[in-house]
Amino acid sequence: MGDDAGRKVNLLGLTLTELESFFLELGEARFRAQQVMKWVHQRGVDDFAAMTDIAKPLRQRLAAVAEVRLPHVVYEHTASDGTRKWVLELADGARVETVLIPDGERRTLCVSSQVGCALDCKFCSTGKQGFQRDLSTAEIIGQLAIASRSDPMGAARAVSNVVMMGMGEPLLNYDQLLPALQIMLDDWAYGLSKRRVTVSTSGIVPMIDRLGEDIDVALAVSLHASNDELRDQLVPVNRKYPMAELAAACRRYLARHQSNELGRRRITMEYVMLAGVNDQPEHARQLLRYLAAVPSKVNLIPFNPFPHAPYERSSRSAILAFQKILVDAGMICTIRTTRGDDIDAACGQLVGQVEDRTRRSQRWAQQILQEREIFRRSS
Ligand code: SF4
Repeated sequence: MGDDAGRKVNLLGLTLTELESFFLELGEARFRAQQVMKWVHQRGVDDFAAMTDIAKPLRQRLAAVAEVRLPHVVYEHTASDGTRKWVLELADGARVETVLIPDGERRTLCVSSQVGCALDCKFCSTGKQGFQRDLSTAEIIGQLAIASRSDPMGAARAVSNVVMMGMGEPLLNYDQLLPALQIMLDDWAYGLSKRRVTVSTSGIVPMIDRLGEDIDVALAVSLHASNDELRDQLVPVNRKYPMAELAAACRRYLARHQSNELGRRRITMEYVMLAGVNDQPEHARQLLRYLAAVPSKVNLIPFNPFPHAPYERSSRSAILAFQKILVDAGMICTIRTTRGDDIDAACGQLVGQVEDRTRRSQRWAQQILQEREIFRRSS
């Protein structure tokens, strides 16, 4: 429940059910949970003294045993295209980033689930940072709370969509993720529609099944390759959960929630475009064959280079040719617009100013430089 850095219970990370139990244990009525949720998540109020529909003695009691503690904002910036980025410091000094991307009426918040990431996808700057720790539910929701409070028109206007696509693999922090998703969907908190909350995974097959059993949200898969040999290299977790198993898990996920959706649901397949690596016409045709049995749409992501990255972004013409092969075959295929480049908020760049405690990225950069030097000498 919540995070454990302070002595008081942090109510920010409690679901409605957990908050009800909290009040029942205090000998208070269950409905207090709804009141407090509304104050905290919809009205952005952290001070119990300001919760005026709660009797004063209870407010004083709450102040003694509980708190509403958000991460500390150490950096906030708005890019020229309106993309906003926050670097947040947590109680133990760890830092994460969260990014709000406006696009017409849609305002999508990209939320982090871990500090760093253990999965080491080869095109991802977060992966180069190494894994530090899981975020608590309060730390995950804290990102949404901060973004929600950034709009003077209120929480309902500030964020319309959430994608669990920031730092970390959300399904490897499942116990903290699930309550966070429940709070996002709860009408007493953020009331986001289940279609507007997306969990993005690199393909942790057993946890995709578990997610499907526990909650109904949209699913995205970081696919990035059209065959196992290539995916083994780019997304190493593929060696554990190969593409056939991943496709079967995606089908099971859809089947579980299909009945009330008239079969219209699809998995979003994220595919980063790496020049000369996975962007050739034969890759597009292979991808079509792979996705033939998975109701899906493909989102092509032009690669965002980061210092010492071993890949380059595919040319515009290669991306368009790849898209055409998919679209001509009847597939829905979009190209993600690169956003927030000038503040390092683009996909795969969520490492920016975050401290690299493991120094892994430096070792990795040195290795790349050494390899380049060996190549230069031998050519
Ligand atoms: S792409 Fe996602 S899962 Fe892979 S290393 Fe980066 S943060 Fe981790």
